[in-house]
Amino acid sequence: MYQLRPYQQDAVNSTIKHFQKENSPAVIVLPTGAGKSLVIAELARVARGRVLVLAHVKELVEQNHAKYESYDLKAGIYSAGLNRKDSGQKVIFGSIQSVANADEEFFQDFSLLVIDECHRVSMEGETQYFQVISKLRHASPKLCILGLTATPYRLGQGWIYQYNAHKEDMKTDEDRFFKKCIYELSIGYMIKNKFLTPPIKIDSPVACYDFSALELHGARYNQKEIEGILKDQKRITPSIIGNIVEMARDRQGVMIFTSSVAHAREILGLLPMGSALVTGETDIAERDEIITDFKLKKIKFLVNVSVLTTGFDAPHVDVIAILRPTESVSLYQQIVGRGLRLSPGKTDCLVLDYTGVGHDIFSPEIDEDRPSENSVIVDIVCPQCGHHNDFWGIVEHEEVVEHFGRRCKGAFEDLDTGEIEKCGYRFRFKRCDQCGEENDIAARVCSSCQHLLVDNDNKLKEAMSLKDAHIMKPDTMMFSKSYDKKGKERVEVRYYDYDGEHLSEMFYLNSPEDARAFYFNFTRMHNRLPEQSLRINTADDVLKNQNHFRKPMYVIARKQKHYWEIREKIF
Ligand SMILES: [Zn+2]
Ligand SMILES: [Zn+2]
Repeated sequence: MYQLRPYQQDAVNSTIKHFQKENSPAVIVLPTGAGKSLVIAELARVARGRVLVLAHVKELVEQNHAKYESYDLKAGIYSAGLNRKDSGQKVIFGSIQSVANADEEFFQDFSLLVIDECHRVSMEGETQYFQVISKLRHASPKLCILGLTATPYRLGQGWIYQYNAHKEDMKTDEDRFFKKCIYELSIGYMIKNKFLTPPIKIDSPVACYDFSALELHGARYNQKEIEGILKDQKRITPSIIGNIVEMARDRQGVMIFTSSVAHAREILGLLPMGSALVTGETDIAERDEIITDFKLKKIKFLVNVSVLTTGFDAPHVDVIAILRPTESVSLYQQIVGRGLRLSPGKTDCLVLDYTGVGHDIFSPEIDEDRPSENSVIVDIVCPQCGHHNDFWGIVEHEEVVEHFGRRCKGAFEDLDTGEIEKCGYRFRFKRCDQCGEENDIAARVCSSCQHLLVDNDNKLKEAMSLKDAHIMKPDTMMFSKSYDKKGKERVEVRYYDYDGEHLSEMFYLNSPEDARAFYFNFTRMHNRLPEQSLRINTADDVLKNQNHFRKPMYVIARKQKHYWEIREKIF
């Protein structure tokens, strides 16, 4: 009999709890090496009906089945590619292509469908998965659907589920096939508890490619551009390979990742004799032979073009060399994850990164594009609900001085009904001048009254078409205290452009009403950390807090008789 680790039992419990309450498809996130076979085994044991485990390629079907049976459990296989079409067992491992073509009888009595590596399948549209699910549901209307993945993120689409119950985090407002992530285990937890080997990251050892010119097209890099850069920087490759060989001298197995076949061939030519290369075009029999030899440690260096070499499981790998730029944290995690399996005699895994792109294997994935070079992931607590949000932000002297989050992602599940209620607090917003509603800063129409919101581009264009308007892109913002003709104290804020020209605005702070007006006319827009209220009642308070104010991207002023009056500031 098998023994579940505590977190595996937690994953099972979360699944049972979820499907007792509701029928919506759910996701479980388990890092590679977390032992999903045992989770499947336990779910199968308690399931009323049969369990179908689907994968998108036969290698994965074979590997999952073998792992499952290694625990002294029995299961069937339904895969034409593996020459087996079992249908009697309680648990069946199947490949989607074969199952989609199975006879009607095959689909009887299943109560649970498990989709492995579910981030790799598109669940939208008339896919094979859609067909199979329809047939299963037709036979068993109460079918439960569980997705398994180590990285719940799809290039081009983003998060594959809507709500993370574990973190009480709303990942997207868009509809997803999977509604909830009901259990999640981090790589950090697995390493800390010694279920995975710790990675040791070595940044740009000796020479390193410069991919800084590379731009994302949607969520991806352009293959041609990558190849162009690699061609231009060809002279660096020999010293990189020399470094890999040197670093791997006392190591057991080395995987080298690239994204172009030409580059892979070049790398192979520089490696010691007996090294091997696997690309998407490698013939299957040859590929199997290479992988077997690699697992037997007859081959030490394995160059790899497609990131995932599906069904590949070589726990002894203790050096990962990355020579391709990675678009996302999850892709990076998939690559590094190949070296984190436990294996006798292995104490760590070297991660040699020659791309300078630099992801952190422990950092969370963030949907939004990184706003600037110096942005890092920061933890921002919502003043409304207390949720911890991961946003891009700027850190100076170990303190967050600014962040770019727009809206709180906190959400809460009604434990009885499973309904999700979003917090929705807006850190930054565009106020509708018709009804006062707070809208997203990119919104074009008010979400409450449908009033057309003027966007910043139009504001600028409009201003540019006016003769008496001055548009400035300020370089600095300066605060000073002065007195008017009647001797009343006031604050002057000056915006200087690169030519030293300036525009300015004046604020009085001599009464509670003045202080409120200052809040609405200045603090609200300029506060670098909008969720933190600044206590500003006097001119001196303004001067004291000047580092908390951000400068606008544009200042638009209109000509009055004797001066320029600032009408609009765009951030
Ligand atoms: Zn909140
Ligand atoms: Zn409105």
